[in-house]
Amino acid sequence: MRIYPLDQDRNFKTTGPPRPLKTGQIYDQGVLRIRADLVAAMVAQARSDHPDESCGVIAGPSGSHRPERFIPMLNAARSPTFYEFDSEDLLALYRQLDNNDEVPVVIYHSHTATEAYPSQTDIALAGEPEAHYVLISTRETGTEDGPFELRSFRIVDGVVSEEPVQIDGAVE
Ligand SMILES: [Zn+2]
Repeated sequence: MRIYPLDQDRNFKTTGPPRPLKTGQIYDQGVLRIRADLVAAMVAQARSDHPDESCGVIAGPSGSHRPERFIPMLNAARSPTFYEFDSEDLLALYRQLDNNDEVPVVIYHSHTATEAYPSQTDIALAGEPEAHYVLISTRETGTEDGPFELRSFRIVDGVVSEEPVQIDGAVE
């Protein structure tokens, strides 16, 4: 899916709000619903880190599938073709999420030379079946403003399913 900030209506459909989940239930609503300011924050970080990949998490209440708290992370690999969270950062993050009864609703990273689609490595390393894996590509505009690619996927047992992204509000 391609998102043009000034022409969102063409790209998104409205659906009902996600239902709350029971523990252990796999989310099958088939849509990522996310606020425009969170989309803008992911894109801004991706542009600022270009040509290296950027990464982070958007946390939300456990079981809600509602991304709320933007947590940019360092790409410990500092690489244009790979990302990894620093292991101590990751440990601290999960401790903090546990304390807040939050989960990583969105796990995002950018591709800087290829499309916004999970690589074989991304698929192999995806360990959160309930997370929405968001990819942003800066391959066309680099650090500049302009149209951007942002797509969302579920990755379960090595199987990638794309889901539509519904943005609440206008991306600036
Ligand atoms: Zn990747």
